[in-house]
Amino acid sequence: MAKTIEVKDTLNLPRTSFSMKAKLYQKEPEIIEKWNRMNLYQKILKKNENGPSFVLHDGPPYANGKIHLGTALNKILKDFVIKSKTMMGYKSPYLPGWDCHGLPIEIRVDQLLKEKKKEMSIIDVREECKKYALKYVDIQREGFIRLGIFGEWERPYLTMNPEYEAEVMRHLAAFFAMGNVYKGKKPVHWCPDCKTALAEAEIEYKDRKSPSIYVKFPMISDLSQKFPVLKGEKVSVLIWTTTPWTLPANLAIAFHPEFEYAAFEVQGEVFITAKRLIPVIAEVLGFPKPQVLVTFLGKDVEGLKARHSFINRESLFVLADYVTLDQGTGCVHTAPGHGHDDYLTGKAYNLDIYTPVDNEGKFVSQVDKYGGMNVFEANKVIIEDMKKDGTLLKEEEIVHSYPHCWRCKNPVIFRATAQWFISMDKNDLRKRALEEIEKARWIPPWGKERITNMVEARPDWCISRQRSWGVPIPAFYCHECGYILANEEITLRVADVFSKEGSNSWYLKEAEEFLPSGTKCPQCGSKEFNKENNILDVWFESGASHSVLGKREDLPWPSDVYLEGHDQYRGWFNSSLFVGIAAKKAPPYKMVITHGFVLDEQGRGMSKSLGNFIEPEEIISQNGAEILRLWIAMLNYKEDARFGKEILQRIIEAYRKIRNTWRFMIGNIHDFSPDEERIKKENLTLLDRWILEKTKKVGKKILRAYEEYEYHIVFHTIYDFFTVELSSFYLHVIKDRLYCSAQNSQLRKSAQTTLFFILKNMLLLMAPILPFTTEEVWEITPVHKNKEESIHLEKFPEFKEEWLESEILKEWNSLIIIREKVLKELEIVRENKLIGDSLEAQVVLKIPSPKMELLKKYEKELITLFVVSSVKIEAYEGENLEIKILKTPGEKCQRCWSFSSYVGKSQDFPQFCERCEQVVREIKT
Ligand SMILES: [Zn+2]
Ligand SMILES: [Zn+2]
Ligand SMILES: [Zn+2]
Repeated sequence: MAKTIEVKDTLNLPRTSFSMKAKLYQKEPEIIEKWNRMNLYQKILKKNENGPSFVLHDGPPYANGKIHLGTALNKILKDFVIKSKTMMGYKSPYLPGWDCHGLPIEIRVDQLLKEKKKEMSIIDVREECKKYALKYVDIQREGFIRLGIFGEWERPYLTMNPEYEAEVMRHLAAFFAMGNVYKGKKPVHWCPDCKTALAEAEIEYKDRKSPSIYVKFPMISDLSQKFPVLKGEKVSVLIWTTTPWTLPANLAIAFHPEFEYAAFEVQGEVFITAKRLIPVIAEVLGFPKPQVLVTFLGKDVEGLKARHSFINRESLFVLADYVTLDQGTGCVHTAPGHGHDDYLTGKAYNLDIYTPVDNEGKFVSQVDKYGGMNVFEANKVIIEDMKKDGTLLKEEEIVHSYPHCWRCKNPVIFRATAQWFISMDKNDLRKRALEEIEKARWIPPWGKERITNMVEARPDWCISRQRSWGVPIPAFYCHECGYILANEEITLRVADVFSKEGSNSWYLKEAEEFLPSGTKCPQCGSKEFNKENNILDVWFESGASHSVLGKREDLPWPSDVYLEGHDQYRGWFNSSLFVGIAAKKAPPYKMVITHGFVLDEQGRGMSKSLGNFIEPEEIISQNGAEILRLWIAMLNYKEDARFGKEILQRIIEAYRKIRNTWRFMIGNIHDFSPDEERIKKENLTLLDRWILEKTKKVGKKILRAYEEYEYHIVFHTIYDFFTVELSSFYLHVIKDRLYCSAQNSQLRKSAQTTLFFILKNMLLLMAPILPFTTEEVWEITPVHKNKEESIHLEKFPEFKEEWLESEILKEWNSLIIIREKVLKELEIVRENKLIGDSLEAQVVLKIPSPKMELLKKYEKELITLFVVSSVKIEAYEGENLEIKILKTPGEKCQRCWSFSSYVGKSQDFPQFCERCEQVVREIKT
């Protein structure tokens, strides 16, 4: 009598609370809560306290806005480093920091205070700046925590903390001790809108339209004494410039000593230019047939003079090697107060460093006609005036790369002012920096060349700023004679005051309170001093950030790695290098890693005005922080990172695949106790042994990628493994064993042992990338020996030799090739409607003898491998494998759907195959 039975009650179907729908936006904050409750970060530090040290020193972001995708990219990469090093067993604390002083905040506060600022004291304004910075430290801190980044968020380093300010002073003292700090009047980049000097790192080059003009300077010196052919001629020197506003400051015309120059006649007038440029100039200026009267070398005219084209002043002929024939006339307009080269030449010829432009970019009142006029507006007026008096020969517009202020985005000018500088060449500072660059490791390797070029080219470091939100330059001026008192000893005294009272004390105390009692001016004996009112470049402050290292046993100096965007070759890597060398004779890093910038899907920068700006907040609240983290793991961060709607869809899709793969694994081991039920390796099925071997190989590759900071290799290796080996093969073919074998059978436990191994190892290997999801799965992963309460307290797996079976991988490679051929044949017969499902098929393999042994060994696996009901192996003498597909005899088992001639034979359970009958019988008895 056939027994009725509900089939699905006899199957071991997957069971899990791990849902397909991630709802990360909801779950992630809960997981963060859980981490806080268990004091996870402290536990991680405690666990690894005896491990080797690995320090990533955080470059402080600027505390003036919400986090954007770029800051998210930077912090998440740092978190990949810290979390992976931690799981390798390193003691790797993360001390985050913020850059709090400086122009961007001060300008923002200016805008907020408006008129009110005029009635406020400097201290009050600084307090407003401090409040502003603290507000954004809080906002950013929340943002970073929300991204799943572990660190000492309760006690970050802030560049406005008194002790930090004191350290900045101590590092400046090191430069004073070397004798590399000096005050001088030199042209520097100057922003007329922000009214301050700017460092190289604060300059952005953008295209700008400028006038391009040719102007004549009539000769004063009588050239006919040297060249009689010029007797009685009206001779002028032709110069070319794109900054007409610098003409009022012209003091000289530079010639290359070795170039050949010519005096040529055009319509009764004689002009001097480089000889080689005559054809080009003649074309631009519309000169018909210029007649060369005489040629000479630049050095022949040194010391001669021309008259300024519109000011009653002489312009001296000087020699300079930097004159080129790329553009212009070869006779270079020289204004020592408005250009770096011009300055050097001016110094060499003892010219005044004349700068008739004030800090708002306006001509000073002493400049005839143009006094009070903004220099860029003056361009037009000067051109008009020269047109009228006939000294302008040509006016065009050119578009060229021009320096702009990094903050206000407006064009800057070159302007000589009295500033504090650090000499790059005194005491071989630059040379030492270049030597140290060689010793560090640079990822990507071209970074070394980039920073080398920057260091080779950088002029003396202008460290003074004409603002108030920062650390003051600790210099004192004699009230009587102006003598400057600034040295190591005084700087260290100021440091001590700052460490207790902060840099506000500079504005609250009298000069005498900082100086040793009885200090007298060495020049005039006066005891009265005034304090310097310039502050220090913020890049110096952040360059001293490595001072937070070396104070704690777990944060030694130097750091192992600095990791920032590639704009920092010019900024922070550079300033840290010099500050490190001055203070500690070495750079504060052993390795520097850089990443690219975030662009949209078309490769454009993201901006609010382009409408392609995406806030991390938006992604986090709709999709989850994990999606951003996965994006960063998917890309090669050394290049620019693209992001947009389509890319987002791809990331979400990838996340879903990973999540579902984990879901399948965790769902099928719900009744598995790893410690008691684990099947020994030698008793595992050969298929299981193969996938274990594969897992180990993949795991080793991932560990290597972590060691090399190649996170995209980590992701792609795992992802390929999940989609190719697991989802479309292994996890598919073991379903029958998992669902239909007896619950506690060796076959099913073999699959579960294997699944547990894969799941656990892949979770551990993915934990630095997806800290939330791996934690979510970890919570419900079966309890096993030494299981930690959080996955982030675990270590990476080691893959010991006990699993080593490289032979099996080779054998399976052959089997997989056979499998692919069989699947192709099955597809054909299915299309021909011979069979419906592959389980209706019987596969007959005719095997050439060399392959026979292999197939015999794996005979039992073949049904599973092909997902068919029976496989027959026949030997034959041919060369190639032959595959025949037949319809299998027998009936379909109602439980496992495979076909068997046994179906219908049982008295009690005619609806089942032999295996299923036995399983069901066991359940029923
Ligand atoms: Zn500006
Ligand atoms: Zn004096
Ligand atoms: Zn069955």
